[in-house]
Amino acid sequence: MKITIAGSGAMGCRFGGALCAAGNDVLLLDGWPEHVDAINAAGLRIDEVDGSRVVGVPARLFPASEDPADLVLVFTKATATASVALAASGAIGPSTLVLTLQNGLGNIEALLPYVPESRLLAGTTTLGTELLGPGHIRALGTGETVLGALGSGSSDHAKRTVLTLSAAGLPARVADDTLGVIWAKVAFNCVMNTLCAIASIPVSALGRYSGFDAVASSILDEVAAVARAEGVFVDTAAALRLMKAQFDPSASGSHLASTLQDLMNGRPTEIAHLNGEVAARGALHGVDAPLNALITQLIQLLEATWPARVNRLHPDTQ
Ligand code: NAD
Repeated sequence: MKITIAGSGAMGCRFGGALCAAGNDVLLLDGWPEHVDAINAAGLRIDEVDGSRVVGVPARLFPASEDPADLVLVFTKATATASVALAASGAIGPSTLVLTLQNGLGNIEALLPYVPESRLLAGTTTLGTELLGPGHIRALGTGETVLGALGSGSSDHAKRTVLTLSAAGLPARVADDTLGVIWAKVAFNCVMNTLCAIASIPVSALGRYSGFDAVASSILDEVAAVARAEGVFVDTAAALRLMKAQFDPSASGSHLASTLQDLMNGRPTEIAHLNGEVAARGALHGVDAPLNALITQLIQLLEATWPARVNRLHPDTQ
């Protein structure tokens, strides 16, 4: 299959590297010149639990040339989906499937001007990956990708894409309820990502806070109410159970949430597409979501002030 990865950071490289190693004709598109140059000069280095390997996959800077792919996999941050969709539009032809596995709300809407709903696939993945430097990623543990069609889309497209991913060692299955899967991950991130970022703690430390259930449930109830207004069911009890399972150090207890990593790296977070979008859609539907609005403002406050954070009582003394 001819596959273009639109946004080749940590996850784009993980999927693109695996799909290329499995024999697909893959092109990595990205906007970071040092990263693209490093991949073209020495290949993509992938660190895995059992060692490190190099995949010779071609990379290019955006925009895509007018050369349609069979599949375009969009893996930029949600904040960049609209601009990346435009920059990748040359790779989207009359029979191209487009797949987003990004976190957050709004990615589907940003892609729809460039691909009809019948050829847009969406979903989530629990595979974790870190970008260690230009041309170098670390694949974290195992995980699963769940994807499906939207609206009038054919489930055959989803099945075909699941087979392509699975054949490349990326476990995948077809979602029964694509929007339900996306909202469930949004609900998870609206609690775990943001609380870990506000408190500056790894996931496992949340388990030491006796008030976790109460605060998580209050946020989740708002997310579920907004989802319900959009015709999507979010199972809040299941979401809470899934979150608490992550406290176990053998799950992702030591993991640093992506919002916290973005703050520490001085990069914009995806907050506008998580709690921010929940609050905004709530306002459209007449559903109050004050906690999600407040959390959005708190993360935006951290974005604006992170370098001024106080880490010691007497910063001028050693
Ligand atoms: P990423 O931060 O690794 O990459 C996003 C973009 O930022 C890429 O274009 C990358 O080249 C660029 N970038 C990164 N570091 C840079 C630097 N130092 N200088 C210049 N440019 C730089 O993003 P990601 O983690 O692959 O996430 C993509 C999407 O997938 C997001 O929606 C994310 O929430 C989601 N996701 C991520 C993971 C994960 O484990 N990383 C897991 C599931 C879902």
